[in-house]
Amino acid sequence: MDEVDSGREGSAVTAVPIGLSDPRVREPAPADMPAHGPLVDRFGRVHRDLRVSLTDRCSLRCTYCMPEQGNEWLAKQSILTLDEIERVARIAAAQGISTFRLTGGEPLLRRDIVQIVERLAALETPDGPVQIAMTTNAIGLDKVLPALVDAGLGRLNISIDTVDRERFRDLTRRDRLHDVVAGIQAAAASRLRPLKFNAVAMRGVNDDELVELVQFALDNDAQMRFIEQMPLDAGHTWSRESMVTREEILERLSERWDLEPVPGRGGAPAESWRLAGTGSTVGVIASVTAPFCGACDRLRLTADGQLRNCLFSNREFDLVPLLRGSGTDDDLEQLLRGCIWRKLPGHAINDPGFLQPDRGMNAIGG
Ligand code: SAM
Ligand code: SF4
Repeated sequence: MDEVDSGREGSAVTAVPIGLSDPRVREPAPADMPAHGPLVDRFGRVHRDLRVSLTDRCSLRCTYCMPEQGNEWLAKQSILTLDEIERVARIAAAQGISTFRLTGGEPLLRRDIVQIVERLAALETPDGPVQIAMTTNAIGLDKVLPALVDAGLGRLNISIDTVDRERFRDLTRRDRLHDVVAGIQAAAASRLRPLKFNAVAMRGVNDDELVELVQFALDNDAQMRFIEQMPLDAGHTWSRESMVTREEILERLSERWDLEPVPGRGGAPAESWRLAGTGSTVGVIASVTAPFCGACDRLRLTADGQLRNCLFSNREFDLVPLLRGSGTDDDLEQLLRGCIWRKLPGHAINDPGFLQPDRGMNAIGG
């Protein structure tokens, strides 16, 4: 398996970091921003979920996420250490962040992945223990899953866009479906439930395979979730035409199953439908055609220590000067609060002036 610290090193990706010396961070907190209490934005959305990207490197090169070549990798020394991640997470948990989702790039490429899970799983919110979840391509999962579960991993989402070997090779530019399936089998045999599989639906690539993917998930006691492709590929190749919409996904699935909406979605990105006769559900994450920003409770930390209040944000809040300088826990908390407070009401993908973020999904953390 590729290891995170064995890859090619390059310069950090272009972003718009905002450090301590930046007037926008030095700017006094808005008078109406609460200095204590729940992590809330201007629109009343309370934040409880932190997506922690552990690396921008990956064992695959999915076309919708990364280019085959020419990636500008984050510099190794810019990647947050185990202690730095734990410190940020501890401060966030103390303010009510109750779910930490480890992602990337591919989180399993971190050599210290078990220790990361172990340290974060020991954190407490004022209301009780935190939940540790992971989104992974499952390569190498079979080898490390027992240790991850012992360390406190609570939930797993596995990405699998096709169960056809050739398609998989074309789509991910790596012939590794067998490794993914081994990881999936280990997950199915584990006690981690609910188990969720994610697939990005793509026209002419896997849109004829949606029913088969659902069946594959059912066979592995998992929920299949289809994601509308978003303009977040590092190669900037997204087009609205090649995106398969929520409506099309539901139409395909309803040729095979009667679908009954499951109420009570809360802040979850996926809408769910019961598949009649199976006792199971399918999910659709329709970020483009049916955005769910109004209920968003998520915040992101990139592998190089930038806080982002939205996947599509063009502004980042740099924790590194505080973490590696003389920043106190209170300084870090205020930066966290300021990032959340400045969150916009929605992602604006559908606005004519929408600008895709510089970072690709692998460097933001999906
Ligand atoms: N490598 C891990 C994986 O693939 O599960 C974690 C990182 S990956 C960036 C997280 C999720 O983002 C995956 O489910 C992937 O399918 C999804 N993703 C990546 N690029 C996307 C895009 N352009 N549109 C929609 N989803 C995307
Ligand atoms: Fe890697 Fe996940 Fe991106 Fe695919 S979607 S290239 S597995 S980070």
